[in-house]
Amino acid sequence: MENLIIIGTGCAGFTAAIYAARANLKPLILSGNMPGGQLTTTTEVENFPGFPNGIMGPELMMNMQAQAERFGSQIEYSLVSSVAKTAEGHFDITTADGKVRQAKAVIIATGASPRHLGLPNEKQLIGRGLTSCATCDGAFYRNVPVAVIGGGDSACEEASFLTKFASTVHLIHRRDSLRASKIMADRVLANPKIQPIWNSTVAEYLTDDKGEVRAVTLQNLVSGEKSELEVKCVFVAIGHVPNAQFLGDLVDKDENGYITQIKGTLTKTEGLFAAGDVADHVYRQAITAAGQGCAAALEAERYLASVGVHE
Ligand code: NAP
Repeated sequence: MENLIIIGTGCAGFTAAIYAARANLKPLILSGNMPGGQLTTTTEVENFPGFPNGIMGPELMMNMQAQAERFGSQIEYSLVSSVAKTAEGHFDITTADGKVRQAKAVIIATGASPRHLGLPNEKQLIGRGLTSCATCDGAFYRNVPVAVIGGGDSACEEASFLTKFASTVHLIHRRDSLRASKIMADRVLANPKIQPIWNSTVAEYLTDDKGEVRAVTLQNLVSGEKSELEVKCVFVAIGHVPNAQFLGDLVDKDENGYITQIKGTLTKTEGLFAAGDVADHVYRQAITAAGQGCAAALEAERYLASVGVHE
């Protein structure tokens, strides 16, 4: 049986692992299906303290992983399908391959995944002209028009990045002003390659004979008018859904599915802690996730000492 299993390898998971490993708890980290988390899909991170000239997201995550491993954390590349608390008070963690691992304490740091519009052919089009990751896919769309959906920081960041490749970036937003921070919004609105389309939503993805996106049907939410916009790729940047579905009733959740924390990173189940974007719909920053990861590890250490685990 493990002392501590950390589920998730974003900023929260790796920071928890660094602290738990330095407390000699020998944590096992289960990676999930996106090792390194959301920062692996971003470009330059300009606001993580300690990097005055910025650092690329994937590099920051590789550094965190190396730091966690240096102190004895183990990483397994597997996806957790369920967690249950046993009558004896430990946790059974089942992964998609059917394996069950046991732990005395668990930290949930599974983050959040990109939200989609929910249109009928959306799932089939992922990778065929529909994506949520400009960093991953932007370079495939050189000198062609593309669209970004959303009005937050993610949409602005994606749109700015895509101007390196695309001929025009249409920024489709359902309101007439951006939710993004002022610096990001100003940057986007000043960029001649970015064309905002206000008060509008995508009603339909239109495909060519190879089944790839060729255009979208726009719907103006004020006039109700519909029009067609030719784009080779749509980047959906409309927020995230927390990855907490596999926890059943071990945790309470808010109306958007984010885990409810009790007193810091504690959840309603003793020995089960939650950190980072899976529980934070307010700040959702790399540094706040890292801070929560640290707090969860300290709480887990305290809990393990209370049930008789001393390093
Ligand atoms: P967000 O701030 O929640 O913005 C989501 C955007 O998508 C909003 O503009 C929202 O419209 C729109 N939207 C949501 N559901 C929609 C739907 N069904 N149809 C059409 N539009 C929809 O999410 P985010 O941009 O991913 O940012 C999340 C957090 O990460 C924020 O705290 C942000 O500051 C942070 N972040 C920071 C950076 C950075 O500093 N480098 C980069 C990325 C993200 P409304 O505006 O009408 O609600």
